Amino acid sequence: MLGLLLLQWFIATFITSIQYNTYFYGFFGGALIVLPILILYPFFKGDKYYRYFISIAMMLFSVIYIQQYLGRIEMHFHVFIAMAILTLYKDIFPLLIAAMTTLLHHLIFNYLQLYEVSLFDMPVMIFNYGCGFDIVLLHAVFVISELAVLGYIIRLQREHHVNLNITQNQIHELNQELEHTSLHDSLTGLPNRLFLRQQIKIIKDNAIQNNEKFAIIFLDLDHFKNINDTLGHDVGDALLKRVATILSERITKNTLVTRIGGDEFIITLSGFASVDNLLPIITGLLQEFRKEFFIKGYSLRLSASIGVSIYPDDSTSVRELMKYADIAMYKAKTDGRDNFSFFTQTLNKKIHNEVDIINDMQRAFYDNEFKLYYQPKVDARTKKIIGAEALLRWQHHNKGLIGPNIFIPLAESTGFILNLGSFVIQESTQAIKRLSDLGFHDLIISINVSARQFQHSDLYKDLQNEIIKSAINPKQLAIEITEGIMISYVESALSLLQEVKKLGVSLYLDDFGTGYSSLSYLKKFPIDTLKIDKSFVDDISDDSTKNESLLVNTILEMGKSLKLSVIAEGVENVHQFNYLKDKGCDIIQGYYFAKPMCEEEFIKLLQNPSF
Ligand code: C2E
Ligand code: CA
Ligand code: CA
Repeated sequence: MLGLLLLQWFIATFITSIQYNTYFYGFFGGALIVLPILILYPFFKGDKYYRYFISIAMMLFSVIYIQQYLGRIEMHFHVFIAMAILTLYKDIFPLLIAAMTTLLHHLIFNYLQLYEVSLFDMPVMIFNYGCGFDIVLLHAVFVISELAVLGYIIRLQREHHVNLNITQNQIHELNQELEHTSLHDSLTGLPNRLFLRQQIKIIKDNAIQNNEKFAIIFLDLDHFKNINDTLGHDVGDALLKRVATILSERITKNTLVTRIGGDEFIITLSGFASVDNLLPIITGLLQEFRKEFFIKGYSLRLSASIGVSIYPDDSTSVRELMKYADIAMYKAKTDGRDNFSFFTQTLNKKIHNEVDIINDMQRAFYDNEFKLYYQPKVDARTKKIIGAEALLRWQHHNKGLIGPNIFIPLAESTGFILNLGSFVIQESTQAIKRLSDLGFHDLIISINVSARQFQHSDLYKDLQNEIIKSAINPKQLAIEITEGIMISYVESALSLLQEVKKLGVSLYLDDFGTGYSSLSYLKKFPIDTLKIDKSFVDDISDDSTKNESLLVNTILEMGKSLKLSVIAEGVENVHQFNYLKDKGCDIIQGYYFAKPMCEEEFIKLLQNPSF
């Protein structure tokens, strides 16, 4: 703009000075306007009042030229256009000022011309050359065209201004949105891992300042993957949203709820007086999930596992606290889910031990260290062995015999259970063959099938192949499934179990009573036998004043009415045995008769029954 101004000064002054010999007005007047602008420029660069000042100056500049040209060349009009374009992308005021000055000039000029008014008696005056209506008309044309240009420019500028604002607002919103999405989970709207990472520093600082503790509560839904895989991601997503809502309801100024991935949530809790105060909160949380969830037409049973670590008791490092809460959660899972666990250093050691076990399992598998043990099942009335449950054992080359409670959960969490599962099917069918060859054609050997196996492996094909390969009577094989499998996989489980059933294999419902299965499930699924869980059998005490065996009675009644046979497992004493027999329980399994044993011992027992 300054360049333009200078250019205009020189060219216009030069041309008109030659023509009219008015160097003084051109150069001196021009310099009077241009020089202050130039001098002030470095100090007020970009200042809006400075721009207003320039626009006024430019208009004054044009007045000088009019005097020089004696009104013949409307230089100010061109300046006006230049100004307009220049200010177009700045703000509107310089343009308005310029326009107003020009307008005012034209109006005054027209008025004075029409009425031949003479204001000053000066040698060079714009008003004394006595032009007629033609000049007035010309000025009127200028006024109209300048107003039109002004209107157009104002419109452009307004649109531009609006657009600019929109874009700026959009950018602002977008930035906010970006910040929100980078810190929040898009599905549930809960803060995410990144947010947690930022926030936990503040939480820790506060804790240090106030000499307080804070807890990291790691919550993981049980069997969520099953729901997602079998009922679809829509249902899974809806469920997660519901869970997020439940958790959000618990947000207080001391509670931060974040979703850190899949079905994993971390709740940080500060400002509690003692760790004991956490217990009701945690058990309350677990309780929240035990409800029945109705989602997209499905009725879902849910539960969660919770692990807790405490600052500064467990560690002062946030990273470690997170890891410890995770370890504790894992412990809650292996303890049977729907559970909570606090981190302890013992747990930490155990976890390290577990990592060793996981790594060792693969090797052990190829070194044939896994064996099947058999625990006899006895007919309650005749005390005859009618079959056995095949139970996995790990005969470790230097650690000795390792029970399944140690390695099965680990194998399940790593997927290694699929290998073990196939091995069990293969080994048990071959054992059935050996037993039949020895003359035991009626024994039923049951094997345990884990949820994971149910879901991923070709269970049906495996069973079919091995039955054919070993040439056994499929009636001698049974599979034990837990209620969890039925509930989590409803539709797929139903068709798979129906197929398995068609093979001739029997189905036992294991650990019955510990899950949530309802009568409707029992009717729907082709179950042959219920296994009463040991925990209920434990309730049968010889103190007749206590009637804690109500559940056992109920299960036995249920079995009868559904025409299912009932096995009681974990029977340890004669009292339990008699009670169960009297109540009509068909089959007994437990240490009272025999512990799980290797195949040779089992054969010996079959050949010489000692009870
Ligand atoms: P489960 O299916 O409930 O098996 C019954 C467990 O109760 C067995 O423990 C058995 O030894 C134990 N038990 C039986 N009678 C008594 C008793 O009178 N008193 C006491 N205290 N315990 C008794 P085990 O063999 O340690 O198996 C534990 C769990 O490991 C099994 O529970 C089952 O869930 C799992 N498991 C074992 N073998 C396999 C397998 O081949 N595949 C799969 N997927 N899981 C298996
Ligand atoms: Ca079992
Ligand atoms: Ca069981």
